[in-house]
Amino acid sequence: QHFLDRIEKHDGSLNSFITVTADIALAQAAEADAQIAAGTAGPLTGIPMAHKDIFCTDGVKTSCGSKMLDNFISPYDATVVEKLKAAGMPMLGKTNMDEFAMGSSNETSFYGAVKNPWDTDRVPGGSSGGSAAAVAARLAPITTGSDTGGSIRQPASLTGITGIKPTYGRVSRFGMIAYASSLDQGGVFARDAADCALVLSAMSGFDEKDSTSSEEENVDFTSSLDKSLDGLRIGVPKEYFGEGLDEGVSTSIKAALEQYKALGAEIVEIELPNTGLAIPSYYVIAPAECSANLSRMDGVRYGHRCENPVDLEDMYKRSRSEGFGSEVKRRIMVGTYALSAGYYDAYYIKAQKVRRKIKEDFVKAFENVDVIMGPVAPTTAFKVGEKKDDPVSMYLSDIYTLAVNLAGLPAISVPVEPVAGLPVGLQIIGNYFDESRLLNVAHQFQ
Ligand code: GLN
Repeated sequence: QHFLDRIEKHDGSLNSFITVTADIALAQAAEADAQIAAGTAGPLTGIPMAHKDIFCTDGVKTSCGSKMLDNFISPYDATVVEKLKAAGMPMLGKTNMDEFAMGSSNETSFYGAVKNPWDTDRVPGGSSGGSAAAVAARLAPITTGSDTGGSIRQPASLTGITGIKPTYGRVSRFGMIAYASSLDQGGVFARDAADCALVLSAMSGFDEKDSTSSEEENVDFTSSLDKSLDGLRIGVPKEYFGEGLDEGVSTSIKAALEQYKALGAEIVEIELPNTGLAIPSYYVIAPAECSANLSRMDGVRYGHRCENPVDLEDMYKRSRSEGFGSEVKRRIMVGTYALSAGYYDAYYIKAQKVRRKIKEDFVKAFENVDVIMGPVAPTTAFKVGEKKDDPVSMYLSDIYTLAVNLAGLPAISVPVEPVAGLPVGLQIIGNYFDESRLLNVAHQFQ
C-alpha cells in the first residue's frame, strides 16, 4: 500500500508506469502475509516489484511501449514473471519504456516520455526508463528491465541506482518480447548491489522454453558480496576515456577507481581496440534482428489492426503504418535493407565479423584482469527533447554499453559521485557468468 500510495502521488509527473495493478499487488501481499505468518516465507516474500512492460504478464496488458500492442493482454507469464511471482513478490504494475525497447531516452514510448526524478526536464535514459525512474523515486524497491545495448545500465546510471545486465543466457528470454534476440537479456534494477543479488538469484536459471538459455549452474549471488577486493585486477580501457566523454563524468569515474585502489585493487591499463566499431556493428545487427522479430506484428494474430482493410496487403500496410512509431519504422527499414539480397554480405555479414573481433578484445583482456571498469554513458542525463530528432547523436550515447551485448558479457552500473547534482554510473564489466564477482565488487564500493 505504501508504494501504491507513492505511485498515486508522484507518478503523475514522472510517467514511469503504463499500468498499475493495485488489486493484484494487494492480493499477492495478503498471500505473502499468510506465508510469513505460517513461517514459509523466503527472502523476497512480500517485497513489491514492477515489471518492464516488455515482459508478458498473464491477464495484464503487455504493450512494449507501443500502440501496436496497446490492446494486447498476454495469455501467459514470461519465465521471469513466473519466477518472481513464485518468490512471493507482489507486482505493483508495468513500467514505461521506449517503444519495443528501441531508444536511449524513453522518449519513443507511445505512452509519452518518462521524466528523470532528479530533474524532470531531463530524460531518465532508456529503454528501461520507467523501471529506473520508479526505483530512483522510490515508487518500487525493485524493477525488472531488459538490456539489448545498454537499456539497464544506462538508465541506472542516469537515475543514480544500480542495474545489472547478466551474461547472455543467464536469464530466460521466454515471454520477454523480442527486439534483437542475440543481444536481448533480462535483468534487474534496485537501490544497491545486495538487492540486485537477491533478485537476480531468483530470476536466473536454465529454461527449456528458451533455446539460448544457459545450463550453467544457478548460484546464490548474495553469498560472495562481502569478499575482500584485495588483489583484484581492474582493467581500465583507454578507449573508454577518449573524445566525447564529459569531463565531470570522467573525473567522477577516476575518483571511483581511486577508491577501489584504496580497497586493495590494482588498476591495469588495457586496450579494447575495436571499441569504435561497436556502434556501427550494433546498429546493423540490432535493426536486422528487429526487422525479423517485428514481422509478427501484422495485425492478424494480435495487436493493432487498421479499420476496414480492403485486402490482406492493405491490412498489413496500414496496421503497421499506424501501429509503429517512427523510431521502430526506421529500425525496420535499416534492418530490412541490411538483410536484403545484394547487401547481406556487405552489411550484415560484415557486422557479424566485427562483432567477433569485439568479443575477442574482451576475451584477451580477461586473460589478464578480473573485471573491467569505465563509464556507462558519456554524459549525465540530457534534456528531454535534446536528441529526440537526431537519431545519430542518440545512438552515439550508447558508445560504452553496446560492446558488452555484442560480446554477451555481464555488466553492472553502480552510482558514483554525482556531477552538478546529476547521477553518474560506473560500469563494471565481468567475465562470462561471473555475476557473483560483479555484485561483490559493486557491493564493496557502497
Ligand atoms: N539504445 C539502444 C537501442 O536503441 C539499446 C536499447 C536496449 O538496450 N534495449 O537499440
